[in-house]
Amino acid sequence: MSAYAEVIIDLVSNAVDRPFHYSIPPAMRKDLKPGMRVTVPLGNRRTQGYVLRLLKETKIASLRDIIAITDPEPLLTKEQLALIHWLSFRYYCRTIDALHAMVPASFRKGRQPGVIQLIEATPAAEAAELDRAPVQKEALQIIIEKGPLAHRDLVRLGINSQAIRSLEKKGLVKSTFARPGLVKPAVKTSSSRPHLMRDEQAFCFGEIRAALELPMAQRILLHGITASGKTEIYMQSLACCLEQGCSALIMVPEIALTPQMIEQFEGRFPAMVAVLHSRLSVAEKNRQWQMILNGEARVVLGARSAVFAPLADIGLIIIDEEHETTYKQEEAPRYHTRDVAWWRARYHKAVLLLGSATPSLESYHLAVKGDQKLLRMTARVTPVQLPPVTIVDMRKELKENHRHIFSRPLLENLNNVLERDEQALLFINRRGFSGFVLCRECGYVVRCPSCDVSLTLHLDRQVMCCHYCAHEEIVPTSCPGCGGIKIRYFSAGTQRVEDEVKKLFPGVSLIRMDSDTTTSRQAHNHYYRQFRDRKANILIGTQMIAKGFDFPGVTLVGVVAADTTLNLPDFRAPERTFQLLTQVAGRTARGPGGGRVIVQTYHPTHYSILAAADHDYHTFFEKELEHRRQLAYPPFADLLRFLFSGSDEKAVYEAAGWFTGLLEPIAGSAEVLGPAPASLYRIKEQYRVQTILKGEALTGLTPAVKRVIREYHSHKPPWPVRLAVDFNPLVVL
Ligand code: ADP
Ligand code: ZN
Repeated sequence: MSAYAEVIIDLVSNAVDRPFHYSIPPAMRKDLKPGMRVTVPLGNRRTQGYVLRLLKETKIASLRDIIAITDPEPLLTKEQLALIHWLSFRYYCRTIDALHAMVPASFRKGRQPGVIQLIEATPAAEAAELDRAPVQKEALQIIIEKGPLAHRDLVRLGINSQAIRSLEKKGLVKSTFARPGLVKPAVKTSSSRPHLMRDEQAFCFGEIRAALELPMAQRILLHGITASGKTEIYMQSLACCLEQGCSALIMVPEIALTPQMIEQFEGRFPAMVAVLHSRLSVAEKNRQWQMILNGEARVVLGARSAVFAPLADIGLIIIDEEHETTYKQEEAPRYHTRDVAWWRARYHKAVLLLGSATPSLESYHLAVKGDQKLLRMTARVTPVQLPPVTIVDMRKELKENHRHIFSRPLLENLNNVLERDEQALLFINRRGFSGFVLCRECGYVVRCPSCDVSLTLHLDRQVMCCHYCAHEEIVPTSCPGCGGIKIRYFSAGTQRVEDEVKKLFPGVSLIRMDSDTTTSRQAHNHYYRQFRDRKANILIGTQMIAKGFDFPGVTLVGVVAADTTLNLPDFRAPERTFQLLTQVAGRTARGPGGGRVIVQTYHPTHYSILAAADHDYHTFFEKELEHRRQLAYPPFADLLRFLFSGSDEKAVYEAAGWFTGLLEPIAGSAEVLGPAPASLYRIKEQYRVQTILKGEALTGLTPAVKRVIREYHSHKPPWPVRLAVDFNPLVVL
């Protein structure tokens, strides 16, 4: 039996981010298992910890004892313990951050869910002498008479917990724990009937079914245009997985978790779907979690964090819209859902099925290389065609003396829509960064010569700066491309678009949806319904309206400025642009009225815009992949971003410089970029400076980098500067 335990302290602090060793008192040795919570001494206080491993020996002398065991059964499964280890290694986070990601807070606090505390009398109870403690005497009497009783039932009978505790101390009663039995419901046949599959669907499904039958981990990319029937394939694959007696995880982006979506799955798989997302109440989340632990829910449908759902025997993990950026967690642990899902698929020898109309470059690249199976669907289930896309060259508009933010083609189409009382979506990526400098005559944008991201304007110092490598240039007075002098600081937003529409079409009914107007979920739903019910003709919005909305009445989509996305100072800008335009285009031509898309841009010949207009993913992919190869960006290299932030500008630079100095000697063949001001240099009074490590297969450097991070955190006096480490960040602003 093991005499020592490796414990991680339940405090979110760098100071205790290492395993602590404790000795296990002999009486506890047969009960203690990895994954259990324990009370341990730490300095001169007591604290909670989690047992990671049991050890037969330790090199550390004079260990302190574990004080108490909290749980009758481990709170964390073997799989979770292994996953915690991997998460903290891969994403450079504290072990406790990884652990907290895995179990909801309400579950970690207090007693273990679903476990019933039973109180029973000990042999000593019969002879107990309790005349001077009548309350305890009465309680003990009841316990002896009725046998083991749930603690909460005793309390319901009017016995206070204090009395029970006193009896326990005297050794007259003891508590044990019991878990309600595992319930495995029989597989029910669907109530909503599966569709008869079309050719492409049937072929893809056949491949997935074959994969499900093999006892090995496999990954499959299902590249199907919108409305090609991917969801139907998900559901039939799910049925197949359940028939084999396995459970399944279905991941969707938060915004797609609508009641309709949930109903669709619950309709076909009644009474076995647990739903997890960030808007659940604590009680509801606990209930869903409980259903999963009990084995009642064999299907989990959820957003990002549901990837950690404690399902056993997973046979299939589906990630719908796998390219969505919301699959990346932006705080520690900064994991990508796709990578966690693949880790779990390997653990369970399950199939990972990724679906998208615009797969991420990383996923498609894996498929092309042959490391992931590629399945394609190119036809829509419904006979509706993809809408025609018109690209409007804004430089030409200007040359012909039309200076309005709406080009003439867009104006004309808006007019038509209003005359016919149809609906239009006007799309502007205001969240897009507007700090780039653009020549309105030729569309030229100043970019970094080595990183090829647009330079960010820093007005205070009147310079343009590359926020990857810190390259600087002064703001030009004439365009380096054409010599013109209409150099502009680019900016446009939803508010501006609204004002212009109102000026042009007084009295028009419009709705504006962006993060200012839709702070609550209800507001979001409210506007959604209003527009769907045709209470307005025009909907103006940010990327929020680009996804998932299905408005049959929309016959025109206008992209007011494709350049805000294209010129994001981020190497993924072309990919974002392609995805966004494809999605936006999918918002029209859904009804009998057909539809068209108008894209306004200063870069009418950029490959991401041209390929999106042609609905041609493959051409986009090849061009973009070549671009990434030349500049050694993912998927050809990994990026590791160290972001320093704090209110003291000088200290932030100093800390970043110090850290970067430690990084250089260990970097090997990887490049160290920076420190450079982040593109969003100041957010909420915090200055932001970053250093980027860029190289092939960075994971080889992880142990050395972790040592540097530890050294940074132990620096005394502590830097008043926060350090956030992000492995392969999706957004570098
Ligand atoms: P995607 O997920 O690829 O966007 P969906 O699976 O939502 O597409 O399918 C679009 C629509 O077509 C849905 O209303 C769905 O019920 C319907 N559908 C899917 N497959 C079939 C089929 N084989 N026969 C008839 N209708 C289908
Ligand atoms: Zn640069």
